[in-house]
Amino acid sequence: MSNKELDQLRQQVDEMNLDLLKLINERARLVQEIGKVKEKQGVNRYDPVRERKMLDLIKDQNDGPFEHSTVEHIFKEIFKAGLELQKDDHRKALLVSRKKKAEDTIVDIKGEKIGDGNPHYIFGPCAVESYEQVAEVAKSIKAKGLKMLRGGAFKPRTSPYDFQGLGIEGLKILKKIADDFDLAVVSEIVNPADVEKAVEYIDVIQIGARNMQNFELLKAAGAVKKPVLLKRGLAATIEEFINAAEYIMSQGNGDIILCERGIRTYERATRNTLDISAVPILKQETHLPVMVDVTHSTGRRDLLLPTAKAALAIGADGVMAEVHPDPAVALSDSAQQMDIKQFDDFYSTLLKNHPLKV
Ligand code: PEP
Ligand code: MN
Repeated sequence: MSNKELDQLRQQVDEMNLDLLKLINERARLVQEIGKVKEKQGVNRYDPVRERKMLDLIKDQNDGPFEHSTVEHIFKEIFKAGLELQKDDHRKALLVSRKKKAEDTIVDIKGEKIGDGNPHYIFGPCAVESYEQVAEVAKSIKAKGLKMLRGGAFKPRTSPYDFQGLGIEGLKILKKIADDFDLAVVSEIVNPADVEKAVEYIDVIQIGARNMQNFELLKAAGAVKKPVLLKRGLAATIEEFINAAEYIMSQGNGDIILCERGIRTYERATRNTLDISAVPILKQETHLPVMVDVTHSTGRRDLLLPTAKAALAIGADGVMAEVHPDPAVALSDSAQQMDIKQFDDFYSTLLKNHPLKV
């Protein structure tokens, strides 16, 4: 074969490559259209019966020289790429996605603007035990010029025999504390039926790790006008976490703060493993503010400060940590809460490292 002949054949192959490219992209556009129709109809994107039919038709028409199995493999890859494209389109369409809204969402909690570029802090006991117990922490928060206080009234505990929280009584205590000290209170709600009542008492609804995929609770929190602090599930992927936030936002409530609180891994040196890289990923993928709970992620008092520094250094919008006047007698999480003196040291060191920008 002369070089000229070879060049001609190669030129034909080049042209055919471009024809194929055009065709597979045209096909991709059709697949995208199908994806949109399916989304509207609420039907599943992957349809194995339809895929089998397409493959059979292709095989019927295949005269070689490729074998059926080769042709099937090539087309299977094309189908897969189309499905991935539909998924990407779906991701782009998420309300919480950065692609949907480029600017950062700022959640305003009684003037505390989470997501404004400054670090924000939520401190308070694991559980509300009494007015006096919470008031002692509230006093210390107030003295630091801080605004947000946490405290669990409904405690989702691993054992049914452990302290379950004071319930509505606990919310009433928090309301009184908020009024007496001019603070904003964050408290976990576990039952969708309690959401409407809870908004009368608290400023932020917390959805805990164990409830991140309690879809009825997410929907109920999305249906009220109250900021939501959504914690990452114990074994939830970032994608599942983002979708949980989408559940809330899809109901009309966009005031959502994401909270990384560690995930369960094989590591036992800490209570959970703080997934620090989740912070910049969540900031990139969504427009929502992201906080880090250093108490439940580490379960260790000696790690609260270094992990809080890491959280702020990597771009978190704030830090949550537990403070109790006398951790040794706390009804829950006694091993990891700070006492008031430790809290003072923790906060002053953090402030030195991360002074307010404005
Ligand atoms: C809490 O913050 O009180 C709590 C129980 O945390 P988590 O849901 O992250 O375990
Ligand atoms: Mn706790």
